[in-house]
Amino acid sequence: MSKMTTMSALLLALTLAIAGCGNEAPGEIASPPAESGGPSSGAASSAGDPHSGRSDATPASGSAAAPNAPTGRDAAPDKQNEPADDGANKTTGKTADKSQPVNQGNDASGKDKEMQVVAKPESITALVNKQNALPDNYKPSDLVYPDVPFLFKEKIEKRMLRKEAAEALEKLFAAAKEDGVALAGVSAYRSRATQKALFERYVKKDGEAKARTYSAVPGTSEHETGLAIDVSGSDGKCAASDCFADTKEAEWLAEHAPEYGFIIRYPKGKENITGYQYEPWHLRYVGVEIAKEMAAKGITLEEYFDAVPVSQP
Ligand SMILES: [Zn+2]
Repeated sequence: MSKMTTMSALLLALTLAIAGCGNEAPGEIASPPAESGGPSSGAASSAGDPHSGRSDATPASGSAAAPNAPTGRDAAPDKQNEPADDGANKTTGKTADKSQPVNQGNDASGKDKEMQVVAKPESITALVNKQNALPDNYKPSDLVYPDVPFLFKEKIEKRMLRKEAAEALEKLFAAAKEDGVALAGVSAYRSRATQKALFERYVKKDGEAKARTYSAVPGTSEHETGLAIDVSGSDGKCAASDCFADTKEAEWLAEHAPEYGFIIRYPKGKENITGYQYEPWHLRYVGVEIAKEMAAKGITLEEYFDAVPVSQP
């Protein structure tokens, strides 16, 4: 009898402990979906920022051939995915520079028919998407904790960004604050191990095909670069959810993020190019000059590099 009681007590304690772990504050509520593109993210279909991207997007049919693709200029960053001819690109300058698809590299996973390995993962402009994966062993070497509020207090992995991006983020948050817009970080860096664990969890739950529709395959989440962060208002409302689009925070970010080197990485109307639904909360650091140029031209990172649309058949 007393054994049973002890067992029950243990079970109860265990249950409570587990519940306690889940106690992740308002921020975390959105976080899981955000992080993981949680399937459970309820109403917000896109909720899985991290890469809830839809895979069923229709082909962009040429849209990425971007007539308005920027003409090469040396700022035109590293053709990070072009292994050999990086140097060549720089010298040829102009057209040659960006006219080539960014990734004619090697086969990355073998699973995705068109998966390539990002050749310069440390580049500030590295193009990481469903067709361009980070190398298996890549971990940014300069991760720091940006001095900005997050929706959670803990000093954990997802609070980190690469140094340059972190400093830019601090300026962005300060500027927003001056304009009466209080922002908070939701989720920034995510290690390969974390992404892998998440993805595998979803594969177990829903099968790989379905998991891929809402969670990024390890190596293809931009959060693994340490240059991306999901942002919300300081109240955490609509964090990483569709309804964030209608907030003043989203409006402010759309207008001012480029001034600090960030782009709205998955804009509305470009789903067929980025491979992701509109995610007004997902910021990607690319540097001020390029961010401003992209914003002025209304183009995505894929278009900037004349890369193949992600959803191309
Ligand atoms: Zn994100």
